[in-house]
Amino acid sequence: MPPNKLFIDGRWEDSACNRFVDVVNPATGELVTAVPDADACDVDRAVAAARASFEKKTWRGMDPSKRERILWNIGDLLMKHREELAALITRENGKTLRESVGADVAPAADCFRYYAGWVRKIYGETIPVDGPFLNYTLREPVGVVGAIVPWNFPLQIAAWKVAPALACGCSVVLKPSELTPLNALRLAEIAMEAGLPEGVLNVVTGYGATTGEALALHQDVDKISFTGSIATARKLLQSSAVSNLKRLSLELGGKSPNIVFPDADMDAAIKASLWGIFGGKGEVCSAASRLLVHQDAHDRFLEELAARARKLRVGNPLDAATQMGSQISARQMDRILDYIESGKREGARLVTGGERDTQGDNAKGYFVKPTIFSEVKPEMRIAREEIFGPVVSAIRFGDADEAVRIANGTVYGLAAAVWTRDVRLAHRMAGELKAGSVWINSYNSFDSGSPFGGYKQSGFGRDLGSYALDQYTNVKSVWVAL
Ligand code: NAD
Repeated sequence: MPPNKLFIDGRWEDSACNRFVDVVNPATGELVTAVPDADACDVDRAVAAARASFEKKTWRGMDPSKRERILWNIGDLLMKHREELAALITRENGKTLRESVGADVAPAADCFRYYAGWVRKIYGETIPVDGPFLNYTLREPVGVVGAIVPWNFPLQIAAWKVAPALACGCSVVLKPSELTPLNALRLAEIAMEAGLPEGVLNVVTGYGATTGEALALHQDVDKISFTGSIATARKLLQSSAVSNLKRLSLELGGKSPNIVFPDADMDAAIKASLWGIFGGKGEVCSAASRLLVHQDAHDRFLEELAARARKLRVGNPLDAATQMGSQISARQMDRILDYIESGKREGARLVTGGERDTQGDNAKGYFVKPTIFSEVKPEMRIAREEIFGPVVSAIRFGDADEAVRIANGTVYGLAAAVWTRDVRLAHRMAGELKAGSVWINSYNSFDSGSPFGGYKQSGFGRDLGSYALDQYTNVKSVWVAL
């Protein structure tokens, strides 16, 4: 990929402004390259290219079977280039190579293949109405979609937006995080190679306050699909309000409760709790960041979890033996360390970790030791706020009612998990937990066919599955007088 370029209308294009964002490898502090900090003029060009492709029907007018094949091809090409893409993601993000393949490239490829299967199955209905009429519905693409995505699963989440939008016939302007722009640029190039016409997928790079805001305020963007923080979501709602009332879907953060009852399969629960918080170095929206353990199992559960956490290999994410890589940036590391200090100040007990990892070469990057707090009270900051790092807050509970009260006691509602062998208790908990996903005896299970999104301030609208199609289509009711 050429440096300092945007991907607009099927070509590498210079930015009109002369400002750039450095892309830094967080595991080493080394400069990888730079990308433009696209301003409103650049975003205008990208939106115009998307609009032109939409109006010319170069994509949405193509035979559905051809569009299906192209989306499938994108999935195939992502897998063909998985090692290259994974290396790119690891260098931008600091997660391990295994995670970049398994939790970014592979699910992104699957997502394109899943939505390839939808292209020929998106249709309306005929409706029996009173009077001499034929009434039917059409499901039409919403138009130009702005996809604004975060840095933690940059390719996977981009696919969650781009694949269903394309399946519905929309044209897209993708705005990756300023921290992880390279995989998005490569995705656009791969989509062209797969046969996607020019202008249908454009990528603008840059900061949220410049590029993101220009997209959010644009009068000719019909919809923004967003994954990121609550603070940015508030701005997007305002941008929509003061521009063209573009529709929004918002996937925001979480403070997900992982609830362990004493009859659970303890070994499975401990393993899942470990990876639920330390996988992706805790920078995971659905991270198992609140561990609620029944008082009868609490002490031995925490002891075993801590023993395994101490053994995790933290370090160079390109090394196959590494289990936890670097945090995304110095800023994110400082934020995590600040939360750790607040946990100590508020009286939680630090069981393990609790500091930066500076062993050997780790000193050059932004590594944090896997951290466990116990004796956490629900009112503490580390129990209420999203840390977005490898820090778990363990809370003791006495019975199911108390567990539900604690679990539902935050502004978030993204995900929750319950560990028990009691099938009645499991289903009761699934019904009472206010969360978009509930995992019973598992954690972080995902499938392209199953919807993902939040309750409460974790957002609205759903990615994945058939539900995502509603985000990218308008329904038109057609009346024919007979
Ligand atoms: P962020 O909100 O800062 O950034 C997300 C994206 O929005 C980036 O591309 C950024 O450049 C852009 N942006 C920032 N300000 C903007 C503005 N004013 N207008 C338009 N765009 C703007 O979030 P982040 O730091 O990249 O990601 C971490 C957050 O995302 C966490 O809170 C995490 O929980 C959340 N997240 C949620 C999910 C989910 O599926 N619910 C998934 C991943 C991350």
